[in-house]
Amino acid sequence: MDARNAHPAEEWPLPPSWMWSCQECTELYKAMKRAPEVVDAARKAGGPGVDYDPVDTVVTTQIRLAQHIATRHTAEVPAVDQACQRCVSDTTGQLPAVLVMEHRARHLFAPPSIVDLL
Ligand SMILES: [Zn+2]
Ligand SMILES: [Zn+2]
Repeated sequence: MDARNAHPAEEWPLPPSWMWSCQECTELYKAMKRAPEVVDAARKAGGPGVDYDPVDTVVTTQIRLAQHIATRHTAEVPAVDQACQRCVSDTTGQLPAVLVMEHRARHLFAPPSIVDLL
């Protein structure tokens, strides 16, 4: 048990059911959840001197899922989360709309602590 997991900001939300009826969503979501294990296995297999960036791999899989949702499930992207600083600042219209949509899509599947980072 990891005490940090008890914090709501670290909790992975349960993805909405429509995501499971889309094969691409399901595959991208599984790849994202598997990413830390894949990196871990690669690191063990590769031995010392091989450079792996676990954060980079995990973030990349999240971005791919967010991009897919933002472009293919535009109607399902949640509205601005008033509790999220990034969402609120996005409403100033300074960011390209697609990036705003990708960020909001991330609220569907990523813990708040991670959504804030991206
Ligand atoms: Zn999908
Ligand atoms: Zn947000």
